[in-house]
Amino acid sequence: MEETKEKQKKNAWNKYDDAQIEKVMQYNEGYKKFLSACKTERECVKEAICQAEEKGYKDLKKIIEKNKKVKAGDKLYYNHMDKALVLFLVGEEPLEKGMKILGAHIDSPRLDIKQNPLYEDTEMALLDTHYYGGVKKYQWVTLPMALHGVVIKKDGTKVEIVIGEEEGDPVVGISDLLPHLAGEQMKKNASIVVEGEDLNILIGSMPLKGVEKDAVKENILKLLKEKYNIEEEDFISAEMECVPAGKARDYGLDRSMVMGYGHDDRVCAYTSFTAMFQLKKTDRTCACLLVDKEEIGSIGATGMESKFFENVVSELMDRLGDYSELKVRRAMQNSQMLSSDVSAAFDPNYPSVNEKKNTAYFGYGLTFNKFTGARGKSGSNDANPEYIARLRAVMEKHNVSFQTAELGKVDVGGGGTIAKFMASYSMEVIDSGVPVLSMHAPWEIVSKADVYEAMCGYVAFLKEI
Ligand code: MN
Ligand code: MN
Repeated sequence: MEETKEKQKKNAWNKYDDAQIEKVMQYNEGYKKFLSACKTERECVKEAICQAEEKGYKDLKKIIEKNKKVKAGDKLYYNHMDKALVLFLVGEEPLEKGMKILGAHIDSPRLDIKQNPLYEDTEMALLDTHYYGGVKKYQWVTLPMALHGVVIKKDGTKVEIVIGEEEGDPVVGISDLLPHLAGEQMKKNASIVVEGEDLNILIGSMPLKGVEKDAVKENILKLLKEKYNIEEEDFISAEMECVPAGKARDYGLDRSMVMGYGHDDRVCAYTSFTAMFQLKKTDRTCACLLVDKEEIGSIGATGMESKFFENVVSELMDRLGDYSELKVRRAMQNSQMLSSDVSAAFDPNYPSVNEKKNTAYFGYGLTFNKFTGARGKSGSNDANPEYIARLRAVMEKHNVSFQTAELGKVDVGGGGTIAKFMASYSMEVIDSGVPVLSMHAPWEIVSKADVYEAMCGYVAFLKEI
């Protein structure tokens, strides 16, 4: 018993030789690049497609349009509204035998710019925001922030905007009260020290010469017109996100960790799609699913609750020349899935929220959560032990470091993932992923060993399940 536990809980760094440590570091260089460049769901989809095309993946939409067929061995992608993506490696066996599915979400907590955001107050120009996802609002002030997003003009033209990431770029951000005058503020409950409606981004302070009213705002509008050819009204049809500015970086003197914005859940997205890329062929079809809106409940057309994945599977079956509704149902029900999302890593600064035997630790590898939810597992997918047993065997066979965990002590809190939506097709699903410190903070931290082990675990899953 004790020996098994030891084996399971071995720190992955101990098993690596120098060459393997180099591999772990190299893999994380690629991840850091991805995380630094992709700070919105759209940027993630774009980059994943770019990397997929390099690996020979073809656009399934075009194949459908041209009424062409697909066959075993084909590599395909389906871009859904630029905010969700499915990758397929078509298997030798009929689709109704089920798929091996890796899923992760690519939306992260942030501050969304409102539809009518721009205003001037005391000769300062500001943007109004509505935060997205669960954030501790006080963490998001006094940081260098960047603006990422798209503006869709009335004629349908799409203007892509990124301000604050290049070396010479300006950054923006939200101010906070000086301690000298914060007596009243500091007495407040942490949830209202900084209030949601006060998360206003300062973007300018220089008046436009010769203008009487709102001259600072007018100057900003002039800049936006010159640089992007957009008008104030165009914010109505824009999706602009304010995110921490700057690149993901090595963390710790030993460079064993990565600090970056949006590990939740781009760390599972990156490890999932790069795992897919390692397979050349497969018995049953492999799928990698990158979805939006998890942080706000997975609803909406691009969230996991949407029918889009089922629709795409139907299209794929149709292209394989073997479509029936019953077979689509079988394809879903006979599937196995790793629903990947980040876990809360044990934090020595806050040990009281965790129960030590059932907690995720840095360096202990891919984390499986049999269940999530809160208050008596409510709202959770609870994975079957038969399925977990198979996964254990696969991970051990491939020497993947893995651990099991739950999100905090009983009744301390909780959370949900995309697992339950896929489980509603009655397929086997388990939550898995990478432990994160400071989850949902502007800058989150992961262990490089866990990132690497997650990818190895996903490859093992795709090969063996
Ligand atoms: Mn997540
Ligand atoms: Mn989250």
